Amino acid sequence: MLVQKFGGSSLGTPERIKRAAKRVAASQQAGYDVVVVVSAMGDSTDRLLTLASRVAKEPAARELDLLLSTGEGVSAPLMSMALTELGVPAVSLLGFQAGIQTDRRHAKARIVGLTPGRIERELAAGRVVVVAGFQGMGDEMEVTTLGRGGSDTTAVALAAALKAQACEILTDVRGIYTADPRFVPNARLLRHIAYPEMLELASSGARVMHPRAVEIAEAYGMELHVRSSFHAGAGTIICSEEAIMEDRNRVRGIAHEEHVARLSVVGVPDRPGIAAAIFAPLAEADIAADVIVQTASHEGVTDMSFTVSSADGRQAERIVQGVAREVGARTVLAQNGLAKVSVIGSGIRGQPGVAATMFRTLSDHRINIEMISTSEVRITCIIDAKRVKDAVAALHEAFKL
Ligand code: ASP
Ligand code: MG
Repeated sequence: MLVQKFGGSSLGTPERIKRAAKRVAASQQAGYDVVVVVSAMGDSTDRLLTLASRVAKEPAARELDLLLSTGEGVSAPLMSMALTELGVPAVSLLGFQAGIQTDRRHAKARIVGLTPGRIERELAAGRVVVVAGFQGMGDEMEVTTLGRGGSDTTAVALAAALKAQACEILTDVRGIYTADPRFVPNARLLRHIAYPEMLELASSGARVMHPRAVEIAEAYGMELHVRSSFHAGAGTIICSEEAIMEDRNRVRGIAHEEHVARLSVVGVPDRPGIAAAIFAPLAEADIAADVIVQTASHEGVTDMSFTVSSADGRQAERIVQGVAREVGARTVLAQNGLAKVSVIGSGIRGQPGVAATMFRTLSDHRINIEMISTSEVRITCIIDAKRVKDAVAALHEAFKL
């Protein structure tokens, strides 16, 4: 059994859908039972969002979900028709028909259960099953979506539930690169990358994979093949660290994310409960705070800084200003136009030289580091967005990627 997921750009036109269908037909002829997961055609999800914004300032989340789910509701039957036209019996299913149950957090629902009985029956009858990605069903038959890029997650969850042999993510790039090839022309295609590294890459701005999909793949030990839907080529295999023989102890890639804003709450009384007071209302508004730094307390006050995506900047500032008044902080500073650059690799663990090289390289290029954060497999610096391209290129060079 093989799960093949096609991204929106691979389905952007009727010709592309026919091309993708040929690829599915070839897998079927090679002897696989195939489940296809599709994204919406081209940029149709964006267009639906624009449409919504033309009729309402703040459309209700459940209505938006119902609207956005129609994008995949178009591409799935078209793919099924194209397959049938090639002589491959096929059937398309919406998320709820495919048995994808989610919670009811609209626009960011999580899959909580999967009952693939219908899919299994269709496969047993010799049909290719085309599932509309990105959508599921919460209780009371509510249509939900899994967050932008969420059809990757649909594909991986199905592959795990059906115990597929492989899950292919077919996209408009050849795989996972050591850095964004638009910034670094000699970026190298990685043959393998470990789940934790990919998770950091995906969460640090490399938009090739939905982070939740990587988490599910790791939990179920499902290998993912990210490869081009247009070219032949093995692409990148996302797998466990143990399965990777080469290149284990080193930096694997440089990720970046533009459009970062920083908020600083200055002169906060240093007592228990202050961080909670700041971050609870942000969480309630579903704003993810990213790099968080608190300075050492001095005369009973500290400064608390954190980053959010620029899109959330204004709202976050408003919320934090309210909190700052309540807790008696001196002031709130907001800065936009920042970017995040991260060095990623399991080789970072226990190698202090990596951080030193990163900071030295940025300093050699006169790039000021605004904030720093680290994890087991990542070091992130917040810098001026105008310098992000230089930073990525310089780090790619410095780590000899
Ligand atoms: N169509 C949705 C989006 O554009 C889901 C996906 O492409 O994976 O975000
Ligand atoms: Mg997509």
